[in-house]
Amino acid sequence: MWSLRAWRHRRILARHPLDAQRWAEVRTRLPILDGLDAREELRLQQRAVLFLHSKQLSALPGVELDDSGRLFLAAQAQLPLLHLADLNWYGGFHEIVLYPDDFVSPQRHRDASGVEHEYDDARSGEAWQHGPVILAWPGVQSSGDWEGYNLVIHELAHKLDMLNGDANGLPPLHSDMRISDWATAMQSAYDDLNAQLDRDADAETPIDPYAAENPAEFFAVTSEYFFTAPDLLQQAYPAVYAQLKEFYRQDPLARLQRLQVEHPDYRPAEYD
Ligand code: ZN
Repeated sequence: MWSLRAWRHRRILARHPLDAQRWAEVRTRLPILDGLDAREELRLQQRAVLFLHSKQLSALPGVELDDSGRLFLAAQAQLPLLHLADLNWYGGFHEIVLYPDDFVSPQRHRDASGVEHEYDDARSGEAWQHGPVILAWPGVQSSGDWEGYNLVIHELAHKLDMLNGDANGLPPLHSDMRISDWATAMQSAYDDLNAQLDRDADAETPIDPYAAENPAEFFAVTSEYFFTAPDLLQQAYPAVYAQLKEFYRQDPLARLQRLQVEHPDYRPAEYD
């Protein structure tokens, strides 16, 4: 079927071909793309170009943003969508604002007894419902490796979560998924993580304790692990890994394990 959207996309791609040398340079800073096959990598490149065409990247003073940096960010933004139908998953926002450093965000929280608390929170990223995504540039630059950390994927996971309302840890699931399966897997892992931290606030948790903040952060942090430390996530919370695999329609753990079989010294065994 002829589609205006597909036609527009083809026209944009024809007018803005990707510079192969620039891609090669950016690609060396993105080990999390290792093991993608040629078709996947081509699709990722094209979607990165389209992403940059549809989003405004606004760099605040102090951020040195060049075309390589833009492509580096866009490629990471597109990894989670790689096997999702070419829908407008990042619709509803137009701008990504890049801060030169972590920033302070005023927070308001009403506790169980109804008392309102106001406090400042240091952040490296934020995603606003119907608004922009804010990313601290140093956090973007430290993303891209198999390290259990990826600021771009984290904040954009919040955007996926917000597609069906407030960020609550439940993005719009595919029709072949069951909300009850999702809720059971996420809730029991979330409860387990919180129980570990209740016993000992300094506990060595299997994933970043920030995931225990609330269900929205749990989804964003486990999405980071899914794409950048899939072995750790699978080991800690296999049911969560399985649900994310259903949702993102890809299997980064299989990709990582293939790389490790092909190149036994592929990646340091230890995460930071
Ligand atoms: Zn978050």
